[in-house]
Amino acid sequence: KAKMQGKGKYLFYNPSMHEGIIERLKIESHLQNALTKNEFMLYFQPQYDLRNSKITGFESLIRWNSPELGFIPPDKFIKIAEDNHFIIPLGKWVLEKSCEFIKKVHEMGYKDCIISVNISVVQILEDDFTDIVVDAVKNYGIDPSYIELEITESVLMESFEIIINKLNKLKNMGFKIALDDFGQGYSSLSYLQALPINTLKIDKSFIDLIDAKKRKRSITDYIVILGRRLGLSIVAEGVETQEQMNYLKKFKCNKIQGYYFSKPLPLEEALKIIDKNKG
Ligand code: C2E
Ligand code: MG
Ligand code: MG
Ligand code: MG
Repeated sequence: KAKMQGKGKYLFYNPSMHEGIIERLKIESHLQNALTKNEFMLYFQPQYDLRNSKITGFESLIRWNSPELGFIPPDKFIKIAEDNHFIIPLGKWVLEKSCEFIKKVHEMGYKDCIISVNISVVQILEDDFTDIVVDAVKNYGIDPSYIELEITESVLMESFEIIINKLNKLKNMGFKIALDDFGQGYSSLSYLQALPINTLKIDKSFIDLIDAKKRKRSITDYIVILGRRLGLSIVAEGVETQEQMNYLKKFKCNKIQGYYFSKPLPLEEALKIIDKNKG
């Protein structure tokens, strides 16, 4: 059997395709109830200022441990949740839990710490997206400047004007906006100026290319130079080695996030790491 895929393209059946469909259906059927059954957890990965190794904030990252399916990484279910719009209630939950967490951090006396929250384009396109974000910070009594919304370049593919308008509105209220996974995919440098962003997150694939032995400057330097010229804060993602860290320091990247410093942590551990970093 052949399935139509786009204009005149045929995709022929093979067993791995079948497995993929079954897996997707399984995930989809369990996803709907996972929120009410409390199966999601939010983890928090610290971001560090490269000048003094102080924690400047955390990125919240969702985790799903399904009793039926086991651990499912977000890369496997976020896309499905976007397709069936389950990302709307899920994304709202992520925002609320993120606010709850950063509130706790501030109450511990660590006042200049922000939380970065991944936002899907499907969420932004909902009519009440701005209200949902504003309600979340109001409910927890948090200043918008402590919330950074992480968007990816995929937002640029759809309804450009609507999205830019919504992001501008949020930025004017004080929310921060970060462009995530920069360099992966459709990056166009001209978009960088059109987007109301504060922060550029360099994709891990570029960080992986940093090689201490090579004399050649990596593409990362140019991204840092460009970002700084646009007045943006630069975060390097997926930093795993000391060499990478030293290199990024030398080229004046602002912040780093990666296993070299810390993996994403459950709430209690994240609060502990903050306490240690404070002293
Ligand atoms: P992302 O936003 O680019 O998040 C960074 C990913 O890199 C995370 O994967 C993080 O655990 C991983 N990472 C961080 N440092 C290192 C490192 O040093 N080495 C390696 N190998 N990996 C590192 P994770 O948690 O599996 O999330 C994958 C993606 O799923 C995220 O990429 C984001 O696009 C999406 N995602 C996660 N949580 C949410 C959420 O709450 N909402 C939405 N819409 N998307 C989410
Ligand atoms: Mg992110
Ligand atoms: Mg990223
Ligand atoms: Mg990513």
